[in-house]
Amino acid sequence: MAHMTQIPPTIPPQAIFEAQYSASRAQIDVPLSLRRDRLGRLRTLIETHADTLSEAVAADFGVRAKALTEVADLFVLRAAIGQLHRQLPRWMKPRRVATPLYLMPARGHVQRQPLGVVGVIGPWNYPLQLTFGPAAAALAAGNRVMLKPSELTPHTSALMASLVQQVFAADEFSVVLGGADVAQAFAQLPFDHLFFTGSTAVGRLVATAAAANLTPTTLELGGKSPCVIDASCDLGDAAIKIAHGKLFNAGQTCIAPDYVMIPRGQEAAFEAAYTAAVARLFPTIAGNPDYAAIVSDRHLARLQALLDEARTSGARVVDVSPTAPAIQATSRQMNPTLVFNPQADTRLMNEELFGPILPVLSYDNLDDAITTINRRPRPLALYWFGRDTAARDRLLNNTVSGGVTVNDTLMHVAHEGLPFGGVGESGWGAYHGETGFLRFTQQKPVLVQSRWAMGNLFYPPYGPRFERVMGLIKRWL
Ligand code: NAD
Repeated sequence: MAHMTQIPPTIPPQAIFEAQYSASRAQIDVPLSLRRDRLGRLRTLIETHADTLSEAVAADFGVRAKALTEVADLFVLRAAIGQLHRQLPRWMKPRRVATPLYLMPARGHVQRQPLGVVGVIGPWNYPLQLTFGPAAAALAAGNRVMLKPSELTPHTSALMASLVQQVFAADEFSVVLGGADVAQAFAQLPFDHLFFTGSTAVGRLVATAAAANLTPTTLELGGKSPCVIDASCDLGDAAIKIAHGKLFNAGQTCIAPDYVMIPRGQEAAFEAAYTAAVARLFPTIAGNPDYAAIVSDRHLARLQALLDEARTSGARVVDVSPTAPAIQATSRQMNPTLVFNPQADTRLMNEELFGPILPVLSYDNLDDAITTINRRPRPLALYWFGRDTAARDRLLNNTVSGGVTVNDTLMHVAHEGLPFGGVGESGWGAYHGETGFLRFTQQKPVLVQSRWAMGNLFYPPYGPRFERVMGLIKRWL
């Protein structure tokens, strides 16, 4: 059990912002060496305190395997910071742009500059990856960063604040602690960019607060991500990958498959395959250190209420955990369930689940599946399992989602070369890799005029000379 970290003496967020703002305007040209130095300090912080950080996350959840935090938070961070460090010299360089004929011989390029002060607001589910990750990209792009982690992971957030304070000056990178009231005031600071990861409901509040300052935002939100099983798929293989994606962190993953769509008639086969997959991954639930707890009593009660409502409204709810009892109340480890064909108007089918409950909807043909997906807000992720590439392409070409993994779940988030983000109600703006670097970068266009420029041919007084030149130029376009 991690001990509560000494919370560093608090500097008011407004004062940190002002210090960062002045510093960002005093040094706009942030050299490669300083950016790499900041990334290096963050990397060392993570490496040196990996164990304590994992213990803090476990203390916040009650049950959360060190290996889970290692793979989902620390490994991903190491990979991201490593790539930023390696690619920075290339990504920082100005980009030459070809000059159109009518502007010859001028030259154009795009200069890549820091935005200034970036605010990051994070959620509790992957409390290290989703806070230090965007912060690393913003630091690499030469910005100052203020980070507000979640109040639902108090051990982790306090430890992050203390560690960051040990290796960064407050005007470089600073962690602000507090609940929704602090978060609300934080979102009102006039950042140069505000990066938010959390629920769609709070995302709306963040966008509204930021709009008052004309602060651009990135919103990494949630939603109901569908998983479509095609008749051509190997059900055993799909079931284990779906079970892994659904039960990773007990379903508390933004891109977890929220519900499954299966060709009508394959329900029993899927139930058997999913049950076997769960038993293979988690031979027991209650007391199993590999199976994460639901983060709080309130979150567990909500999930129970969703199941109760589905049951009362007539859906078939199947507990697929290999062993009884249903829930170990003290550990908040909730049994995985399947819910067959719940009513469309239930909370189960209208709220993001964020837990180990998997609704299974039967469909008759691909068009039905596409219509069901397109009737809902655009999801953060979409999964498809099968071998029929024509069916796959038809689904991908006719649905819009934040991202896609084919024949697996979750994995597109781990590819640093792929932009990661939502669309519509699942958010806007993307990050990871160069996309993340550019998210926090002003791409400033610069045109350098030549002494041989012929722009004066277009100057007034307009007359026959102007007409002749215009006539010639129009032929080149
Ligand atoms: P949340 O929206 O409840 O809280 C997120 C953060 O917002 C917290 O730090 C909180 O203090 C802060 N906050 C609360 N009220 C605020 C306000 N009025 N103004 C500004 N900030 C405020 O989300 P959560 O419960 O921590 O996380 C779960 C949600 O996050 C799920 O919906 C999940 O899908 C989503 N999520 C998305 C991604 C992604 O990358 N797209 C990743 C993880 C989680």
